[in-house]
Amino acid sequence: MACTLTEEQIKSVKPLGFLHNKGTNCFNGRIITVNGKITAAQTRTIAEAAEKYGNGDVEFTTRLTVEVRGIDFNNIEAFREFIGTAGLITGGTGSLVRPVVSCKGTTCQYGLIDTFALSQKIHEQFYLGYHAVRLPHKFKIAVGGCPNNCVKPDLNDLGIVGQCVPLFDEDLCNGCKKCQIEKICPMKAAEVEGGVLTIDPARCKNCGRCVGPCPFDALEKGQTGYKVTIGGRWGKKVAHGKPLSKIFKSEEEVLHVVEKAILLFREQGLTGERFADMIERIGFEEVERQLLSEEIFERKQGILDAKLHLTGGATC
Ligand code: SF4
Ligand code: SF4
Ligand code: SF4
Repeated sequence: MACTLTEEQIKSVKPLGFLHNKGTNCFNGRIITVNGKITAAQTRTIAEAAEKYGNGDVEFTTRLTVEVRGIDFNNIEAFREFIGTAGLITGGTGSLVRPVVSCKGTTCQYGLIDTFALSQKIHEQFYLGYHAVRLPHKFKIAVGGCPNNCVKPDLNDLGIVGQCVPLFDEDLCNGCKKCQIEKICPMKAAEVEGGVLTIDPARCKNCGRCVGPCPFDALEKGQTGYKVTIGGRWGKKVAHGKPLSKIFKSEEEVLHVVEKAILLFREQGLTGERFADMIERIGFEEVERQLLSEEIFERKQGILDAKLHLTGGATC
């Protein structure tokens, strides 16, 4: 059947996460998975909803949401109510904080941080908590568990990467001919020079693989941390996010910097401008200065109350 819906009807459900199936009266319903992790019961509810309200297909998106295809316009509310019984919601569109993407660092052998726990907090505080806060454009966040970057954090507006900063005790180093650290470092950042191990900070990715294997306990400990990159994007224009100079030591510090970045984007971004373009316009150093200071929190309420970006800039 050809589409009989008006443009207004099609537009009205997009903010709810319903994307028009071209040429029909049907939509893809985008379900938010929080961080790419849903329960078996929720999976069953999605499958049932796909058969009851959609065409039976379930589609996984690149940003870890799940879409049910073929939902008739008149069934949208019933569909939302049905998946709501399993604690699921639809959404993930517009000039807002978008659903968070996380890797499985919590259980991965290389994971240095609890990615699911952190991304769930980001989801609660900034996807749900900032859902009414309009931004100049979409704002994407990804959490990766280690420098292997499986979820490509630096191609997001804000990326977080788990770190383990090696804490080397030079006094315990014997300058062995066959250094275990030199052997294990995937970045060739560790080298014995002049009878002692040196780690080149420009090459070291803080992967933490060197923590432990030294037989003389010269590298027994690492400091867990979080690297934050800003200004990444993927799409018609591509940019790699640039890391802030500081490695953050706690989840709390990271959550603070995420909030500052969102407030800064809302306050200083031009409607239709991506975070990467705003950083280019203002200058990375100035954006970093503001992100590492607390000054924006003094203006928080004013920034949230201002009538900004009413038209929004995101087109997808
Ligand atoms: S980024 Fe690291 S922790 Fe995350 S899935 Fe890849 S290897 Fe594992
Ligand atoms: S770091 Fe350990 S293995 Fe490497 S040279 Fe020093 S003592 Fe030897
Ligand atoms: S943390 Fe990783 S990259 Fe850095 S020195 Fe150790 S093994 Fe090499």
